[in-house]
Amino acid sequence: MKRLSLVVPCYNEEATIRTFLSATQLVEKKMEKELAFDYIFINDGSKDQTLDVLRDVASQFDNVHYLSFSRNFGKEAALLAGLEVATGDLITVMDVDLQDPPELLVEMYQKIQEGYDVVGTRRADRKGEPPIRSFFARSFYFLINKISDTEMVDGARDFRLMTRQVVDSILSLSEVNRFSKGLFSWVGFKVTYVSYENRERVAGETSWNFWSLFKYSLDGFINFSEAPLNFSMWTGTLFFLTSILGIVFVVIRKLTIGGSVTGWASLVSIILFIGGLQLLSLGIIGKYIAKIFLETKKRPVYIIKEKG
Ligand code: UDP
Ligand code: MG
Repeated sequence: MKRLSLVVPCYNEEATIRTFLSATQLVEKKMEKELAFDYIFINDGSKDQTLDVLRDVASQFDNVHYLSFSRNFGKEAALLAGLEVATGDLITVMDVDLQDPPELLVEMYQKIQEGYDVVGTRRADRKGEPPIRSFFARSFYFLINKISDTEMVDGARDFRLMTRQVVDSILSLSEVNRFSKGLFSWVGFKVTYVSYENRERVAGETSWNFWSLFKYSLDGFINFSEAPLNFSMWTGTLFFLTSILGIVFVVIRKLTIGGSVTGWASLVSIILFIGGLQLLSLGIIGKYIAKIFLETKKRPVYIIKEKG
């Protein structure tokens, strides 16, 4: 019989783990003839009783295991750790708050049997989300798909079912700065999506705020696109050429009708404008250098303190 590993990152999720497990175990029961489930929970340095709950459920069920990090390393690190220890023929990543409905696994597994390598999920709508967040999310996907070669699907969740081969390919990407949405798509393979209605969290609170999402989207741009660097280069070139024209103009005016002191206001504006642009460009370049810096240190993505 084929085995399915469920990789579930948890950060301050004491309130949701048991609910998640019982909901998923219903699906496990339904599919028991075709698939044997095993669970890998990753405690991502939670500050609440998450680890105790995990120890508890791991001793209660043979097919439930957990890893516990020495501190909060972020969801990306938790996903990586889970994928690394998962041994199933099929592997799925799921949020523990039941925003990724476990019932969908039945339909997703069917698609795998039809020959797909990856079955992703996407939300049919963004109901229940603040409009401003939807607006920024849409803008992010619009922009990143314009400027990056790696396609990222709007509304696609991290919840996806993958074959062993796909997971091995993802693990073969050794970068330390991991932007999963991009990595999952970069490896390719035959992919399909199932849609479902957006759901609210069963309990607990989201650990993302506007600022963390904004920083996360910047990571997406920097890790999967060189467009920001091209932007600096081309605007730089444009201003350089314009300034040459300007110098020619000033010299000719001086030689023909003489110099003048009027126009200092526009001059200051131009200096400020160009100065600002230079700082922006330096900032963009700095972002890339920072990524290279972190990458060359080859630090581990996470540190495991306890296994069970
Ligand atoms: N998560 C994690 N580490 C973090 C933040 C979140 O492992 O630093 C987990 C969290 O426990 C949940 C999943 O990632 O299982 C998604 O988080 P959340 O529900 O807060 O995000 P949202 O659904 O609001 O995007
Ligand atoms: Mg959630």
